[in-house]
Amino acid sequence: MLKSRNNMSFERLKYYRNLAGGAFECIQSRLSKTPKPLCFSLMVTSKCNCDCDFCFWKHKKGTDDLPKEEIIRLIEEAGKIGYMDSIFWGGEPLLRQDIAEITRASQKAGLYTKLATNGWFLEQNSDFAKYTDLVFVSLDAIGQAHDKIRHLDGICARVMSGIEYHKLHFPKMRIYVCCTVSSQTDFNQIKDVAQYCKNVDILLYFTVNKSNQMLDEAKNVKDTELETEQLSEIFIRIKDLKKQGYPIRNSDYFIDYIINKKNYYECHWPRIATVIYSDGNMLRCYDRKPYINIKNKSLKDVISNSVYIDTVNKCKECKLACVGNYALDASGLWKLEWPAIKSLMQIAIT
Ligand code: SF4
Ligand code: SF4
Repeated sequence: MLKSRNNMSFERLKYYRNLAGGAFECIQSRLSKTPKPLCFSLMVTSKCNCDCDFCFWKHKKGTDDLPKEEIIRLIEEAGKIGYMDSIFWGGEPLLRQDIAEITRASQKAGLYTKLATNGWFLEQNSDFAKYTDLVFVSLDAIGQAHDKIRHLDGICARVMSGIEYHKLHFPKMRIYVCCTVSSQTDFNQIKDVAQYCKNVDILLYFTVNKSNQMLDEAKNVKDTELETEQLSEIFIRIKDLKKQGYPIRNSDYFIDYIINKKNYYECHWPRIATVIYSDGNMLRCYDRKPYINIKNKSLKDVISNSVYIDTVNKCKECKLACVGNYALDASGLWKLEWPAIKSLMQIAIT
C-alpha cells in the first residue's frame, strides 16, 4: 500500500492529545454549569478578495479588525486558560500580512492551530504554515465552476497550485478541502472534488450552507441553501463515496443527521467554542446580536462573566440547528451520545 500523507504519524499524536483532551473537557463542562470552552475561534479579518453569493461578511470592509497585539494577547490568555485548539478564519485570513505571527503565537501557546482560507494567497503568504497544524482550503467544484461560485477568475487553479506548494514545503501540515454543499453545486461537481482530493492525497470536509444564520446587516446575500430533501439525497451519495474510500472526514453522525432530514439538535457548541468576530464582538448564537466585545478585556474575565455564562448556556435552546462547522459533532460528544462518539473515533483512527 502506498504511503499517504494522511497516514498515522508521530505528529498526529498531538491531534490525539487534542481529541482526548477535548472529550475530557466536554465531560467536565457537562458536569458543571460553568462552561469550560476549549476551542478559540477568531475571525482575524472581515476583508476578502472573493465575493461569494452566500457570504454573510461581505458588507464589512475589514476596517475594524483587531490589531495583532490584541489578538496575540488573547491567544496567550487562551493558552494559559487551557483552551486546546484555535482556528483563524475570515474574510480571508491570508490578507493579513501578520498572519504568521498570529499562528506562531498560537502554536507557542500550545494550541492545536488551524486556519481556514479561500486559497488565493497560499503561495504568496505561506509562512503561516510553519506554525499551523491543519489548514482548510475552500473548493466547491473544479475549474471555472468554482471560480464562478467564488466570483474570482483563476481561484481554482491557485487553490490547486497552493495545495501542491504546501504539500511540498510543509509536509506535516494536514490539508483539508472544505466543500460547501449548496444550490450552486451538483453531485457530479462534488464527486469531482472528492476525486481531486483522493488523487492528491488530501482530506475533504463538507459544510452545509445555512442561510438562517445570516446577520441582519448582511447585504446582497443570496439564499443558496438546498431543500432538506435534496440535501438528504446528496448526502446519501456522499456517504457512498466515503464507503468507497474517498477521503471524506465528515462523521457518519453528521452525515446521517442530514440523510435522516433532522432539523433540530440540542446545541452545546457555544459552551465549547469561544467565537470572536473581527471587531472583537461575540454574538449570541440564537439571534446573531453582539452581547460582549472582548477588546481591552481579559478573556478569563469574559468567560467567567455571568452575561457570557447565561448566554452560552441558553444556546441549547437555539432552533437554528446549524451544521456548518463542528457544532453538531461536538454537541453529540458533549451529550455522550454513542453514535457521535463511535463515528468520531472511527475518524480519529483512520
Ligand atoms: S471566501 Fe469566505 S469570506 Fe470570502 S467572500 Fe467567500 S464566503 Fe465570504
Ligand atoms: S445551532 Fe449552535 S452553533 Fe448554530 S447558531 Fe445555534 S447555538 Fe449557535
